[in-house]
Amino acid sequence: MCLRIDFHLRTEGEELPDAFLEAYELELMFDNTRRSLGAALERKFSDVVCAEHAEAPSFTISGVYNNEREDMDIRYHVDTCCQFFLLRVMQILNQRA
Ligand SMILES: [Zn+2]
Repeated sequence: MCLRIDFHLRTEGEELPDAFLEAYELELMFDNTRRSLGAALERKFSDVVCAEHAEAPSFTISGVYNNEREDMDIRYHVDTCCQFFLLRVMQILNQRA
């Protein structure tokens, strides 16, 4: 039973000439995002499996950094074997760390 976490992190928009974050810093931010979100999920879901199907959840995390607005949009996509387990996963996900 292994937690599957996929990250899709990218940038969009024109890079501003006086960008707050340079490409190198963006890469670092993406690395940190992968590490900290990954670690948080591993911690919360280390031994969480569906009681009925014994399947672990899988996560896809999409992050888009917008060069023009200089903000980051993060979305979680959660896949589970069944609706019932999805509810449980969402409860755990919404708990404070
Ligand atoms: Zn299930």
